[in-house]
Parts: sequence; structure tokens; C-alpha cells
Amino acid sequence: MTHVPAGISAIFERHVWSCSAWKLDRQISPTEERRCALGIEVGSRGLRTALITREARIVESVHGISAPLTAQSAMDQLFNLVEQLFEHPNARGWTVEAAGVAFGGPVDAGRGVTIDGLRSSGFESYPLAGLVEERFGIPVALENDARAAAFGEYSFGAGRGSHGLLYMQLGIGVGGGILFGGRLLRGAGMTAGEFGHIPVTATGPRCSCGKPGHLEAYVSELAILSRAQEALDDLTTATSQTDDMRIEEVFAPDAPPGVAAIAEEATQMIGMAVASLATALSCDTVVLGGYAGRIGGDFIGSVRARIRQYSLESAVRRLIVSPAQLGADAALLGASALAFHSRAGGAELERVVM
Ligand SMILES: [Zn+2]
Repeated sequence: MTHVPAGISAIFERHVWSCSAWKLDRQISPTEERRCALGIEVGSRGLRTALITREARIVESVHGISAPLTAQSAMDQLFNLVEQLFEHPNARGWTVEAAGVAFGGPVDAGRGVTIDGLRSSGFESYPLAGLVEERFGIPVALENDARAAAFGEYSFGAGRGSHGLLYMQLGIGVGGGILFGGRLLRGAGMTAGEFGHIPVTATGPRCSCGKPGHLEAYVSELAILSRAQEALDDLTTATSQTDDMRIEEVFAPDAPPGVAAIAEEATQMIGMAVASLATALSCDTVVLGGYAGRIGGDFIGSVRARIRQYSLESAVRRLIVSPAQLGADAALLGASALAFHSRAGGAELERVVM
């Protein structure tokens, strides 16, 4: 059973409800095709919600001010944000068919339940999809944010037209998603796409999960900045300005040698991991998101070279390696695309075990 959190008032009574879709404006013409999905992102960057069309156009969006500390406060903030969104003049006349939630932690998508909040409490076995569904009376698809981003890039971005897509998100953590024939792979343990926890060395720095030698401990933005900072501290005096170091500077051609070595090692680790995955899965497209799309230069070319260095030639002969195209919108757009699929009874939402 799900329940609406206490303290949330019935703020939507003035709107029109129906069993299949929720109309934002009772004046809407029944012949008008102004239908959209409600996209929701609950992640490390806080809360964000938007009305999004099937063509991935963001009609309007609102952001949360800060990252919620508990599941309860997240839901309180979320419902308030949605109220703001629906009150916006640009929301007038749109019908919301379904909602898609991209969550920054592991989820059981089939049951619509979060498994763990990682940086927030109260998300253990939390029926997030059910709460949103009960609140708004529309179908809700829940997905991990990196997997939602993978679906977004497949639907609207750099992964369009691919048959076997590997999307790796290089952010604060490292995650991703795998799609074959447009179907998201989730797996028996819901860990498909958790590329950050692939072992790349037998020993080495501890990962956020506590295990040694995982990819995330070498190539997450946090890990790279932390290791580059240590290298810089060894090279410079304590008064040097090192506090504002950005990921772009670590990968810049004029980075100090110790810092450049960190960037080179990260590039090598990403190349090795993608080589393993591309060989084992025999996918045709690799999309690198997160900072890969921001640092520019020849980062993608360097990763391609490393992939070729470590792969069977036949596995990567036709492999396309691209930076992501949707930027910070990928998870939100992917969640809305999943929402439309759930509305259509799409098989993409079914648990797939291969
Ligand atoms: Zn790990």
C-alpha cells in the first residue's frame, strides 16, 4: 500500500481529473493535441520537474533549491514544485498523460520502488512511483537516473538509431545504461549499467561502495578532482590557488604534468572498461555523458584510441563512440520518454533479464 505523506494539502482539487489523463486547464479543446508527460528528477543536484512533449520539447520546468535530506522532505518539496509548475502560465492548456521519475540511486523499476537513497535517508524500499501515481492519478514510470539518461540519449540524443547502446555517465559517480533493440537492460539484481563498480585494478583506491579498485574510484568527477588536487599539492605551495580546480582544467593540454597524468590514467581506465563492455556485449554505439560532453578537446578521440588498444579488432571495427548530446536534460527527457512508453503499455518498462 502507498500513502500520501502527511502535510501535503489537496492543492490540485481545482483542476480537472480523469481516469486516464490529468488536464491542467478545463478550457482545453478535446481536439487539441497538447499532450505531455510530467518529468521528475530526484538526484544529487536536487529536484527538478518539467512538462515535456513526445518530441522532447520542454514546455516549462522548475527546480528545487536544495537536495532533500530525507524521502519525506523530498516528497514535500516535489509536490510543491509540481504545483508551481502547473500554476505556470506556460502550463495552461496542456494535458499530462503520465509521469516519469529519474531517481539518483538504485531502483526496482518493475515495482516502482527505490532501493536506497545513497545520499538521502528514508529511500530504502520507498514506493516513490506509487506515491506520485496516487497523488496525480496518472501512470508513473520510475527509473535510475543514469538509466533514464541512457534512454533519453537513445530516444533523442547521440544514441538514436543504435541497436546496441552502451551509455556511460561520468559524473559525481559513474553509472549508465545498456539498451538492445530499444529495451533497457536491468538484470536480476538491477545492476545492469552500474559501470562505476566494475573492478579495473586488483587493489587501489576504495570506491564509494567500499570495494577496492572500482572504475568509479578512478574516473568519477569527484575522484579525478580529488586525485588531481593531491597531485597539484605535491607540485605547488600551500598558497597556490587550487581550490577552484575544474574538471576542464584537469584535461586541458596545459595541465601540470602530475595533473595530466591523472587525466591520462582516467582516460585509460575508461577506455579499458568500455573495451571490456563493448567486446562482451558487442554493442554498436557508445555514448559518454557527464563531463565527457563538457571537457571538449580530444577527450573522445583519446578514449577511442584506448578502446582500440584494449579491444578485439572485430568487436570495435564498427563501434561509434560519441559524447552525449542532451547534457543535463538527459535523465529528465529519458524519464518522460519512459512515461510515454508506460502510457502505451510499452515493454521497455518490463523487467528484462538476459
Ligand atoms: Zn564500487
